[in-house]
Amino acid sequence: MATYPELIDIPFEHRHQCWFCGEPSHVSFTFPHSGYLVIACPHPTLIVPCCGECHTLARKAQVDDIWQARQSVKAGLIKRYRKDLAIGINWTQEELANSGFEGGNFEGFQRSAWFMHEVAKDRVNYKAWPLSYRGEDLEEVFVKDSFTFDGVTYPSVDDAILHYAQSFGIKVQVMKKALAITGIEAFADAVRFCRLLVGATPDEIKVALVGLASNIQIGEAYNDS
Ligand SMILES: [Zn+2]
Repeated sequence: MATYPELIDIPFEHRHQCWFCGEPSHVSFTFPHSGYLVIACPHPTLIVPCCGECHTLARKAQVDDIWQARQSVKAGLIKRYRKDLAIGINWTQEELANSGFEGGNFEGFQRSAWFMHEVAKDRVNYKAWPLSYRGEDLEEVFVKDSFTFDGVTYPSVDDAILHYAQSFGIKVQVMKKALAITGIEAFADAVRFCRLLVGATPDEIKVALVGLASNIQIGEAYNDS
């Protein structure tokens, strides 16, 4: 393992692009770095080009490898742009266009709201070139599973749960309980179910979850027969 920074192979067309979000890069991010001690970093010291915003987020990540740092940056971007991203789950572009926001300031809002949504989504979804070191692909060994739902790739299922819970005012624990019943593949159903429970009392939620579980059991029994 090298103890000094090593530049990795950066494809020519990406040399001015942020490795985290795809925006123009102004600085570079080194991992591990002096701000956080990593006892057993599994890869040599790596340097990637990045934008100022991602650099700030990446420096805060207390993780063991650069791919976990990327997950942390993506989670940070999702948190920071929660409102812009939520435009897409509350409105489609057509709905926004037909929402009666025409004229004056509202038209400007409509255009910029969708633009901000697209920019935020592209940055969260941006998948960088695979890192290689002396010709060896490092990606395969380290990259953890991400979760894609409704056109947005989240670093993990937990990040998607957090995003939907906070965008719709759903309790994270309720959403996790619903997902434990429906399964991750029925994420949309779980979100729909939980939205009906916004403002419900703990007892009502308990009853609804029992109902959800028995509905699914009945559905399964029906499919099996
Ligand atoms: Zn960036």
